[in-house]
Amino acid sequence: MRSQFLPFSRPSIKEEDIAAVGDVLRSGWITAGQNTARFEQEFCQYVGCAGAVALSSATAGMHLVLRALGIGPGDEVITPSMTWVSTVNHIVLAGASPVFVDIEKDTLMVSPDSVEKCLSSKTRMIVPVHFAGASVHMAPIRKMADQKGVPVIEDTAHALGTHYLGRPVGSEGSSIFSFHPIKNITTGEGGMFCSDDEDLLKHIKRLKFHGLGVDAYDRQTQGRSPQAQVLEPGYKYNMTDIAAALGLSQLGRINQLNKKRAELAMRYRERLPEIDEIIPLSDPPHTTRHAWHLFIVRLDIDRAGLTRDDFMHELKKKNIGTGLHFRAVHLQKYYTESMGTHYGMLPNTEWNSDRICSLPLFPDMTIEDVDDVVEAIKTVLKR
Ligand SMILES: *Cc1c(COP(=O)(O)O)cnc(C)c1O
Repeated sequence: MRSQFLPFSRPSIKEEDIAAVGDVLRSGWITAGQNTARFEQEFCQYVGCAGAVALSSATAGMHLVLRALGIGPGDEVITPSMTWVSTVNHIVLAGASPVFVDIEKDTLMVSPDSVEKCLSSKTRMIVPVHFAGASVHMAPIRKMADQKGVPVIEDTAHALGTHYLGRPVGSEGSSIFSFHPIKNITTGEGGMFCSDDEDLLKHIKRLKFHGLGVDAYDRQTQGRSPQAQVLEPGYKYNMTDIAAALGLSQLGRINQLNKKRAELAMRYRERLPEIDEIIPLSDPPHTTRHAWHLFIVRLDIDRAGLTRDDFMHELKKKNIGTGLHFRAVHLQKYYTESMGTHYGMLPNTEWNSDRICSLPLFPDMTIEDVDDVVEAIKTVLKR
C-alpha cells in the first residue's frame, strides 16, 4: 500500500507561477488591471474566440448570462442534471425552471435528439456540458437552437484544450470556462466568459462590475473623466490581477499540462481492462482532441458487491483519493423536495450518478501513481 496519500487532483504550481504572482503583489496594482486584460487577450488567442471577459468564477459567469439574457419566471432553461449544481442553482435563483435533459450513458453528455425533446415555446437557453475533457456534438444543437432563436451557452469548465471536429471548444458561440483549482489551469478561483456575440460580451463586461460602463482598469487607463455611470445595476464579479497573473503563467504551460494528463490517461486505459468491475467511458466520435480534465470510470456495483460510495471510502483507506463528478442535481435534497424530481426520470443520468468515480489525474502525478491506483482498486475489489 502507498505510504503517502494520493489526492484525486492537485494544482500544478511552479516557481514561475509564484514569481508571477509576487510581481503583481509588489507592483502597486493588485485588482483588475493590465494582467487581467492580457489574460483575456491571450485566452482569446488560445481558444480562438472573438472576445473574453475574466470573472471571479464560472458560476459568476452563469449568473451574469442569465441576467444578461433576461431569463426569469416563466422561462425554461435546458440543462443536463449531470452537471455541477451551480448552473441549476442559478437558473432557480433567477426564478426560471430547469428542464433536465438526460445524457448518453457512456459519454455523460447530451445528444442533439435528447435536447430536441426538451424544447418548448418557453425555452430561453440551452446549456450543453462538455464532460471530462471530451466534447458535446454541438453542430446539430446549434442549428436547432438557431432555428428556434434560443441562445446556447456551453459549459466549458472541463474543456480547456478540447477540440471538436478539429477546432477548439469555445472558439464558436458562447461559453464559460472555470479556473477552479482542479481545472486544467487555475487562477485560485476564476472563470472566463467567451463569445462571438459583441453585444453579449459588452453586457457581461458591464454586469460584472456594478453595471458601470467601464471597470477600474479602464478608469485608470482612460482617466477619471468622464466619471463612469451606472447604466444598470450590476454585480462585483471581476477577476483580480493576482489571479490573472497566475492564469497567464498557467496558460503558458497549457499544452504541456494537457499532454501530461493525456499520458496518464493512456496508462489508465492500458491497465484498467485488467479489472472486470470497472466500466470505462467511451470516446465521443466528434472529439478530435481530449483535454483529459477528469478520468472517470463507472463501478459495476452488482458485480463488485459494494456501492460506489463504499468503493471510494475503501480506496481512501488505501491512501487513494477519488472525486465524484457529479451526483445528479435532480436527486439532491432541495430539488427532490421543491420540484418533486425523483429516480426514474432520467435513467442514464441516474445510472451514472450511482456508479461514477473520478480517479486521480493531475499533471504532477507519475505513471507509477497510476499503477498504484490500479493495484489499490484490485485489492479493494478482491476483499
Ligand atoms: C467547476 C465547474 C463549474 C463551476 O466553476 P466555478 O469556477 O467553480 O464556479 C461549472 N460547471 C462545471 C461542469 C464544472 O465542472
